[in-house]
Amino acid sequence: MKNDKEPSFRESVDMMFNRAVALLDLPPGLEEKIRVCNATYTVRFGVRLRGKIETFTGYRSVHSEHMEPVKGGIRFAMGVNQDEVEALAALMTYKCALVEAPFGGSKGGLRIDPRLYDEHELELITRRFAYELIKRDLIDPAQNVPAPDMGTGEREMAWIADQYNRMNTSDINSKACVTGKPLNAGGIAGRVEATGRGVQYALREFFRDERGLAKAGLTGKLDGKRVIVQGLGNVGYHAAKFLSEEDGSKITGIIEHDGGLVDENGLNVEAVRAWIIENGGVTGYPDATYVEKGAAVIENECDILVPAALEGVINLSNADRIKAPLIIEAANGPVTAGADDIMRKKGIVIIPDMYANAGGVTVSYFEWVKNLSHIRFGRMQRRQEEGRHQLVVDELERLSSDKGLGWQLSPGFKEKYLRGADELELVRSGLDDTMRISYQTMRDVWHERDDVEDLRTAAYIVAISKVAASYRAKGL
Ligand code: NAD
Repeated sequence: MKNDKEPSFRESVDMMFNRAVALLDLPPGLEEKIRVCNATYTVRFGVRLRGKIETFTGYRSVHSEHMEPVKGGIRFAMGVNQDEVEALAALMTYKCALVEAPFGGSKGGLRIDPRLYDEHELELITRRFAYELIKRDLIDPAQNVPAPDMGTGEREMAWIADQYNRMNTSDINSKACVTGKPLNAGGIAGRVEATGRGVQYALREFFRDERGLAKAGLTGKLDGKRVIVQGLGNVGYHAAKFLSEEDGSKITGIIEHDGGLVDENGLNVEAVRAWIIENGGVTGYPDATYVEKGAAVIENECDILVPAALEGVINLSNADRIKAPLIIEAANGPVTAGADDIMRKKGIVIIPDMYANAGGVTVSYFEWVKNLSHIRFGRMQRRQEEGRHQLVVDELERLSSDKGLGWQLSPGFKEKYLRGADELELVRSGLDDTMRISYQTMRDVWHERDDVEDLRTAAYIVAISKVAASYRAKGL
């Protein structure tokens, strides 16, 4: 349970912002301009369902328009409220600045429990919500571009794109009005996995930072590290899958809305995911120890804790019992400002949300560019690249046979070297590059400034400085 002294999510974000901005020397008034949320639109609309009209409440918040379009997901959940969307919109501003995605920050939400509606009903509701936002330019390829978040995915994004297209039939760039669409509706390869993939790349880069590792009291590589994941949804599932399958980490705990699963030998992520899809939760999963009070599993011993569900899950009531030396915030705002203070003093290293889950917006940026350029990445170069590689291989083989050198290319080399990069490989390469470079900019501030104790403050310093530079360039 959260403590009464706990600030709201938006206040928490502001407090973290304030800690960082105090270390910057901004012109008078600019700090306030950057902090405040520019506008929040609230809409209430009715949809006729099962013979009666049901009224829904939704929001779209625009935090900063220092760059346009503004960008941020649309969440479908019962907890959605104005404070939450404003906090999430602010985080989007800082996140985009940190990873150099050329957008301002926005976020939207609809107060709904999507599990209570069938697909057709959800389509009606989503289209109606989209209609309300589109007619106010709160969904628009040049002004405001949503993406998936909790409770939404490719399906909802395809409905939104289609709704925009119906209302703007002559807009040749209409597909760029929303990202996270399915591939056959203008999406990009690798978007569904992008946020979880970004978490993996972020951890890999952290494990290359010897000083960072030492601050967390960790050594070695990701291989064999014990990982607890909260929330096996889009972000948590992909992060857990890639870390266990590709980096050799052990997923020793999975926490879901109905309880937790633990196994010190490592859980089978695919099997747990399949069980959740089939049964709606982890309850009854046969191959692990089930813990009814799942939230407590967050306090178990592990090397890396990955909160990937909700905000505020590590708060004043449990922060001092957290044992993980390293937390990577795959969710937005999982640690409250008060908990952040407690854990920082304990020496726990937190890789902050604005960086850790930026893989989603990074690949969304690639999708938006793809939509505006109306061509798949790699389509022009791929065969040309393959042809040039073929020339090198042919030449090597000719030299070897002409000169009787008996050279043999290693098994698999030819196949790998000759293959030109397809869209998925290009997306992963762009994402990896973004996650590495953004980490390094934060890391330098963290390690080099004596007044910066933690990565979160470093991330805010980098992000705020970039937003401030944009405002200054505009003459504000
Ligand atoms: P999702 O809806 O796919 O998954 C959320 C998961 O959390 C679900 O499996 C749900 O059952 C579980 N959950 C709900 N309540 C829980 C509880 N009390 N304890 C444990 N688990 C619980 O959502 P998602 O898209 O994976 O988003 C998760 C987080 O990541 C959110 O904070 C979101 O803002 C953030 N995020 C998502 C993206 C993205 O691309 N989807 C990008 C950036 C950040």
